[in-house]
Amino acid sequence: MSLSLSRSLPRALLRRSYGTVQAPPSAASLIANRIPPALQEATAATAPRTNWSREEVQQIYETPLNQLTYAAAAVHRRFHDPAAIQMCTLMNIKTGGCSEDCSYCAQSSRYSTGLKATKMSPVDEVLKAARIAKDNGSTRFCMGAAWRDMRGRKTSLKNIKEMVSGVRAMGMEVCVTLGMIDENQAKELKDAGLTAYNHNLDTSREFYPSIITTRSYDERLQTLSHVRDAGINVCSGGILGLGEADSDRIGLIHTVANLPSHPESFPVNALVPIKGTPLGDRKMIPFDKLLRTIATARIVLPATIVRLAAGRISLSEEQQVACFMAGANAVFTGEKMLTTDCNGWDEDREMFERWGFYPMRSFEKEGSTQPQPAVEAAPVAHDSASAAPAAASS
Ligand code: SF4
Repeated sequence: MSLSLSRSLPRALLRRSYGTVQAPPSAASLIANRIPPALQEATAATAPRTNWSREEVQQIYETPLNQLTYAAAAVHRRFHDPAAIQMCTLMNIKTGGCSEDCSYCAQSSRYSTGLKATKMSPVDEVLKAARIAKDNGSTRFCMGAAWRDMRGRKTSLKNIKEMVSGVRAMGMEVCVTLGMIDENQAKELKDAGLTAYNHNLDTSREFYPSIITTRSYDERLQTLSHVRDAGINVCSGGILGLGEADSDRIGLIHTVANLPSHPESFPVNALVPIKGTPLGDRKMIPFDKLLRTIATARIVLPATIVRLAAGRISLSEEQQVACFMAGANAVFTGEKMLTTDCNGWDEDREMFERWGFYPMRSFEKEGSTQPQPAVEAAPVAHDSASAAPAAASS
């Protein structure tokens, strides 16, 4: 068809003509008119700041996604080695039977999920699992217990401290998630060698009561404060796909960005709906929302490790890589992540190999709140006139 058409057209019409070659617009000027002021300032930052307004976080979150991920990648390169990804393994050391009512959780005793409650795992069994994780390339070992808090759990705390010391003795970073803890428990864990304590805020302050009623947002913040005061790294992030709106994802990032210091680690979980829980029929968060949240977190929390956590198994390899390119730099890997399936070590190693990533060394990010010196700020100029909001509420 095209052959006969070309035969029937005069030669002059078929000849392709080229105009004078103009100098292409600079990358800076191309993106300048799409970048809101808050993002311009953030991409030029050389240190984390803890005085974010919610409007600033919103401006960043609502930047067109291709610009947002470009800026996030630039910030990522300034504060981190963009090829290094931390491999963590998370083991449940006490499963099920929890008195709390977190609407997403398989381990709450309030929901019929079919999960069998167990006693706490013996110390030697946990250390064996940590050794396997280390031998497979994980550099951080995390241990989770399904309960509300550590009150009246003296024997458990003693055993957990043994686990913490044992894992540290292997040269691994060690993290625990044990619900609410007080100042003394935090100090004891610190003395045992704990690297980080995970306690997620889950979502915004406003949306939180629709997800959990048995403990308050302020109680969660109180635990984070005990952890921080004890000199333990804070790991605190959220869960996406709970039914929250964009404003709640913005609210979550805004809250952690204004803590006295940014968390060392910010896990971004995609809800894994568990049958029998109130959120058992929810759909996976749309990928663009997940990516947008990761990129915003990377920019607003520039020195923090942004952790692609639960739900990663539902992402394609290309989607995972898009998250790494937008600033995620840690994953959970191994046989299980608490009670849900997890991408395995071999699969992750192969993915890293294909895309040019490598596992972060233990303690590589320790105390790193300063930017990497060799990378320059992203070229952005100041012009907010045409900043276009791109995200709608879910
Ligand atoms: S406190 Fe933890 S284990 Fe208990 S229901 Fe909530 S998320 Fe699940």
